[in-house]
Amino acid sequence: MRLSRRNLLKLAGVGSTAAVAGGLGLDVSQAQAATTQIRIARAREYPSVCCFCSGGCGVIAQVMDGKLVHTEGDPDNPSNRGSNCSKGAAVQQTHDNPQRVTSVLYRSPGASQWEVKSWDWAINRMAHLVKKTRDESFQTTAGDVTVNRTEAIGSLGSSILNNEDLYLITKFMRGLGVTYIEHQARI
Ligand code: SF4
Repeated sequence: MRLSRRNLLKLAGVGSTAAVAGGLGLDVSQAQAATTQIRIARAREYPSVCCFCSGGCGVIAQVMDGKLVHTEGDPDNPSNRGSNCSKGAAVQQTHDNPQRVTSVLYRSPGASQWEVKSWDWAINRMAHLVKKTRDESFQTTAGDVTVNRTEAIGSLGSSILNNEDLYLITKFMRGLGVTYIEHQARI
C-alpha cells in the first residue's frame, strides 16, 4: 500500500495520542477506533480553507447526506500542515451554530431593542454617516500647513482582511482624508 503524506501524519497523530493515554494507564484504542469510524464512515471529504483569518489554513470538510458533520486541519496544506488555531478548530460553527447572527441588527440611540435591517439599509446608513461626519470635521489646513484630513473617523481592520483588501481600504481611507488607520489581527 502506498502511504500518502496525509495518512502518515494521521497515523503519527494516533500513535502519539495512544502513547500519552497509555502512559496514564488508559486503553483508548476502542474509543479511537469508534470515533474514526463514526467520523469517516460515510462522509465525503472536501479540502477547504478556514474563513476566519487571512492565514489561509487548510481545512478538511467532512460532509454526510449533504450536511457538514466535521472539520479538521488539512495535513496536505502547506500553510498549516494539519493544524488549526482555536478559531479554525471551531470553524464548523460558522455553518450550524443556531446563535450565529445572520442579519443586520441595529439598535437606535437610546433604544433597548435590536431591529433587523437589510444590508442595503446598513450600507446606506454607513455612507450617510461617513459623509456627514467628514463634511462636519474636514480640515484643509493646520496652521500654515495644508492637511486635508478628518480626525473624526477611524478605520480598524480585522484578521479576515488580506493584503489586497487592506491595500484598497487604506487607499479609500486616505482618499477620504482619514488619518487614524489601524489593524488588529485577532478580531
Ligand atoms: S483563524 Fe486560525 S486556523 Fe483559521 S486561517 Fe487563521 S490561523 Fe489558520
